[in-house]
Amino acid sequence: MSISVRFAPSPTGYLHVGGLRTALYNYLYAKGENGRIVLRIEDTDQSRKVEGAVGQLMSAFDVMGIQFDESPKNEGECGPYFQSQRLNLYKKHVGELVDKGLAYPCFCSSERLDTLRKEKQALKLSTQYDRHCLSLTKDEIKEKSESEPHVIRLKVPDSESITFNDTVRNDVTFNTEEIDDQVLLKSDGFPTYHLANVVDDYHMEITHVIRGEEWLSSTPKHILLYNAFGWDAPKFAHVPLLLNPDKSKLSKRQGDVAVEDYLKKGILPEALINFVALLGWNPGDDREIFSMDELISEFSLERIHMSGAVFNQEKLSWMNNQYLKEL
Ligand code: GLU
Ligand code: ZN
Repeated sequence: MSISVRFAPSPTGYLHVGGLRTALYNYLYAKGENGRIVLRIEDTDQSRKVEGAVGQLMSAFDVMGIQFDESPKNEGECGPYFQSQRLNLYKKHVGELVDKGLAYPCFCSSERLDTLRKEKQALKLSTQYDRHCLSLTKDEIKEKSESEPHVIRLKVPDSESITFNDTVRNDVTFNTEEIDDQVLLKSDGFPTYHLANVVDDYHMEITHVIRGEEWLSSTPKHILLYNAFGWDAPKFAHVPLLLNPDKSKLSKRQGDVAVEDYLKKGILPEALINFVALLGWNPGDDREIFSMDELISEFSLERIHMSGAVFNQEKLSWMNNQYLKEL
């Protein structure tokens, strides 16, 4: 089977160094396996739209020497792959789940949900949705659908233990009791991250999902969706968080996080690639200087480690100096 991976950023207006590392690992894996890498823009949150974000992202990747086999050509242009241009596809698939009885419309107002959450919080109960709308009759649903805004929720199985394999963490087990009836389709007709991500990974025939650890808690929800659709799930590899030297999550407050900032400060693209490659992966010995081609031939998912990786600015300067000396 041939390998397909993807990098699936939300357009924020700059390329985060963590995003660069995720994209790089996907790229190295795809190139090393003669596979394909897709760039997919996850722009379904209309409130977080940033003008020009995709253009900026594409030029950052250009400078960094990462090319995608399939990527959006121009902002606003139809084609691979902006999620905001694929709304019908998500709607179609969510409709299938409703027909199968695996998802259901929810008409609850945000006021009702708020009150419910507060009441449950006060009683120290889990704040999951109470399935109020699951008991509506077909006729009630039909009548309400015509006049009231609603979302579609996944009907999460009551109490099942589900295990998936993560290349970095081995078996990960969760119980469906811990999972809320996820919203799949919002009342504005846009999909949530979970729905769009799974539908697209399926349609784009993605075989390996390599992404940041912050998405690990979403994976059970994705597995439930693959099961509901009757699709095979891809393989997963969650790469460790990037940390500040004090071990807190890498943040703007403690230094730059945009690739563009480092380039402006005189860091060479090759040095930055080399540096982020070693944040979460190692070659198994103490070599530290790698060209892109060397990384492609050395990289393997098995050597990604689980513990967080400290983003050490001095190390980056040292590495940059090694590259400058070579010039
Ligand atoms: N849109 C998500 C992000 O911004 C994608 C996560 C994933 O790769 O599934 O990183
Ligand atoms: Zn409801």
